[in-house]
Amino acid sequence: MDILYKGVAFNGKISVTVIEATQMVNEAIKIHNLSPLAAAALGRTLIASTFMASTLKSEGDRLSVTLNGNGVGGHIVVAGDSNLNMRGYIDNPQCELPLNSKGKLDVAGCVGQGRLTVVKSMGLKDPYTGSCNIESGEIAEDFAAYYTFSEQQPTGMALGVKIGTDLNCVGAGGVIFQTLPDADDDSIEKAEQLLYSLTDISSIIQNEGAKTFVERAFDDYTFETFKPRYNCICSNEYISGMLITLGAKELYDTVEKQGKIEVHCHFCNKDYVYYKEDIDSLILNSINKKG
Ligand SMILES: [Zn+2]
Repeated sequence: MDILYKGVAFNGKISVTVIEATQMVNEAIKIHNLSPLAAAALGRTLIASTFMASTLKSEGDRLSVTLNGNGVGGHIVVAGDSNLNMRGYIDNPQCELPLNSKGKLDVAGCVGQGRLTVVKSMGLKDPYTGSCNIESGEIAEDFAAYYTFSEQQPTGMALGVKIGTDLNCVGAGGVIFQTLPDADDDSIEKAEQLLYSLTDISSIIQNEGAKTFVERAFDDYTFETFKPRYNCICSNEYISGMLITLGAKELYDTVEKQGKIEVHCHFCNKDYVYYKEDIDSLILNSINKKG
């Protein structure tokens, strides 16, 4: 069962988030038929974005994260909400590269260099947009840099996705530390030491799970738990609502030209097809709604 632990530790000076997301990554693998490399890259982005979604304050707040890199994977897009419903896709789900010099999946080569962009929609305010350069492409460092430079929030992050021989994910998760305003050097140093020891967080998740890790690693903790999951929000209603904003003329023009309107959801690979009679009822419904 995927789970997110959130609390403070290190004398109450450092905020700590521990995420177990093996199921979420397996859901992404199933939906997108991901290669191990694509699964690692999209999986790490899903985990980092799950952390980001867990910092959204209000019900209904949403975010989207785009990794616009020049690696073999192409763009990676992840979206989520304050209830930790997460979804994502990668342009080239079948991408492959030789293992890197450490014998690990070459996530940096999959992502490449470019720009990381975050858009947060919170209530009625204009969406908040922040971005930073993708320097490492290993994703954890890039999200940490995003927080440090774009949101002025010093952040340490370890992420890991381990793929088994059957191409399924056997362990995926992350540990994220953020300093609280009154953090002292001693607490920061202890947090850094723990973070440096987490070079293989996916094996920790695989072997002991987030719960045991949290209990073992933090002696002075208070944690809340949340349940993240892979869940696409698309539906007939959602897609219809999107189409109707294009206006009747545009919709009828397209149906006349192509015989139908097809909408593909990149996040769950579902196709929605609308024929002329569907557009008729769509338009009629929207007129009735307006009264
Ligand atoms: Zn969908």
